[in-house]
Amino acid sequence: MNNPVHLIFLGPPGSGKGTQAEHLTNQLSFEHISTGVILRTAIDDNSPLGLKARYFVDRGELVPDSLLVDLIRKRLKEIQIAGVGWILDGFPRNIEQAHFLENLLEELSISGVKVIYLNVPDEELTKRLLDRGRKDDNESTVSRRLEVYREQTSPLIDFYQDTHRLLEVDGNTTPELVTATIKSLLAKHT
Ligand code: AMP
Repeated sequence: MNNPVHLIFLGPPGSGKGTQAEHLTNQLSFEHISTGVILRTAIDDNSPLGLKARYFVDRGELVPDSLLVDLIRKRLKEIQIAGVGWILDGFPRNIEQAHFLENLLEELSISGVKVIYLNVPDEELTKRLLDRGRKDDNESTVSRRLEVYREQTSPLIDFYQDTHRLLEVDGNTTPELVTATIKSLLAKHT
């Protein structure tokens, strides 16, 4: 049996992480873990997590790390038992989360994780986000989310580049072409 493949999708809001994770999950056997989807579902359900997260998500801010780390630990453990790979979409989002994940991967003896960085220029991102029309995609949250990405998430590009795990993909093209590019990179690197 092939070893499960583990991927982190990194990139600004609107870069296509969710779409690409879905395409790959449909085509290969991955579990797709999207912290954005988990939080939006919790908010819609008015669950305890949702009630704590809403304030931050509505403002385009990151939710506190403490709301996500136990949940990520539990999911990765369950998926490991199931023996399949995963795509982490939207986590880690800051350097503390990245350190937490490093420790967790060590604890679970998972190595060889690759980071797919979807690179898309800012003008295109704003256009895509405003077209998408999600509840947290109005003009003020969009610009705050891009700012939060630049300040807190983009340092992870260097963090993963330094450890030779970063695979950069031009995300400024059609979804089909991006999927094909990711698949050929994976064939080469995993
Ligand atoms: P996304 O769907 O990935 O764009 O996430 C939507 C919103 O959920 C973000 O703007 C944050 O408010 C929150 N969120 C998602 N992932 C994280 C994370 N790893 N850490 C903190 N907040 C997050």
